[in-house]
Amino acid sequence: MTKPLYIPAALARQIEQAGVRAYPHECCGILLGRDEPSRRVVERVRATENVYEDASQRGRRFAIDPLELMRAERDAGRAGLAVLGFYHSHPDHPARPSDFDRSRAWPVYSYVIVSIQSRQAVDLTSWVLDDASGSFVRQDVIEGEPHRVMEGESHDG
Ligand SMILES: [Zn+2]
Repeated sequence: MTKPLYIPAALARQIEQAGVRAYPHECCGILLGRDEPSRRVVERVRATENVYEDASQRGRRFAIDPLELMRAERDAGRAGLAVLGFYHSHPDHPARPSDFDRSRAWPVYSYVIVSIQSRQAVDLTSWVLDDASGSFVRQDVIEGEPHRVMEGESHDG
């Protein structure tokens, strides 16, 4: 069972706006927060440039500069946070991982995808790669303000 991803509504909107701004290219960025036993809590999002090597493919592919990821991990460590995963947008495509996404994904991380249709954010999902099967498993996304996130703890198991 994949634990849910809690994200403050303001940060979810920030990801959607990044997708709208980058349209028709894919936006991308890094999710920082706390990996707790029963959930992941996003506390910051860090926008990064889409540096996919073939610029003409940046509407269908994204890449994050490894140096940016190193900097994000360093800054997260200083703040007592962890890199929880990544987000990117799918311009005029559903918020489901592509074969390309799967080929580049690592287990453990959360992969948030926002679908942008005609410059509007229409769907936001999150996925975790299952190490055994090599396929993505959908992760529940729970939006709310931080105090509401705290109240949301009384779920089973
Ligand atoms: Zn994708």
